[in-house]
Amino acid sequence: MSKKNPEYDFKWCPGCGDFGVKRSIEMAIKQRTIETELPVENNVIVAGIGCSGNLVHLLDGPQPFGIHGIHGRTLPISLGIKSANPDLNVLVVAGDGDFLSIGGEHIAPQAQRNLNVTCVIMDNGVYGLTKGQSSPTTEYGEITSSTPYGKIEAALNPLHLYLSMGVSFVASAFSSDVRGLAQLIQEGMDYKGFSIVHVQSPCTTYNDTFDVLKGNAKKGIEPQTYAIDDSHDPENLEAAFDLVQKPVPLGVVYKAAKAVALDERFEQVTANVKGTNAEQLIKSLAI
Ligand code: SF4
Repeated sequence: MSKKNPEYDFKWCPGCGDFGVKRSIEMAIKQRTIETELPVENNVIVAGIGCSGNLVHLLDGPQPFGIHGIHGRTLPISLGIKSANPDLNVLVVAGDGDFLSIGGEHIAPQAQRNLNVTCVIMDNGVYGLTKGQSSPTTEYGEITSSTPYGKIEAALNPLHLYLSMGVSFVASAFSSDVRGLAQLIQEGMDYKGFSIVHVQSPCTTYNDTFDVLKGNAKKGIEPQTYAIDDSHDPENLEAAFDLVQKPVPLGVVYKAAKAVALDERFEQVTANVKGTNAEQLIKSLAI
């Protein structure tokens, strides 16, 4: 895809947080095309399955390339794209269910390779597309369509998980702050290495957390979100771990200073490989 399909008629529910994320991605890609002077087709969006994955079809304006892949496999697909053409800018869009449940096993290997892609994860704490089952980030005890007596698993802390797995750039955002999120996505795309921008993107139909995240003085609800203090040093891993103990920080949580991206690792490794022609290869295999 690098042309919008006019017949694709998926619609998000009114007020869904994913609208804000979509707008932020449009802004970030537009800004990138201006700054790099590269065509919009230099960007590839790899989408997972779920309401959020439909974002790849719903972008307005000039269309990047896009792949709406299979459930939980955004990272292996991205690895394939970057291996074939490292010059492409790859952006993953997925939800908490897709990325952290079925796709969870792919995060650590890509973190260890430092795959040079940016993941924008829309976390609404529920499987919205399939009508509200519990996901890895659903709170313990929550009643959902798959947990009618309350969820028995504790909620995952995705930011802590990313840091533990060695992800080299971790940011946390809220879909309501469209400009702030666009800047974080840009920063992630500029970073040479594996970057994850984890976004609280409420599902207004099955798990409306807007009040909890923003706070609501009339209802006596304190906001869960807070801006990361300027004194925080994002290159300090220990400080980053401290920060993610309390939900939900907004800004860059961690940015490894000396991480070598996979593209560079390939170059370093292949620079030492001596060329072998077909005749030498056959001789080396002969008994
Ligand atoms: Fe958004 Fe939830 Fe509706 Fe899906 S079900 S479109 S996540 S509000």
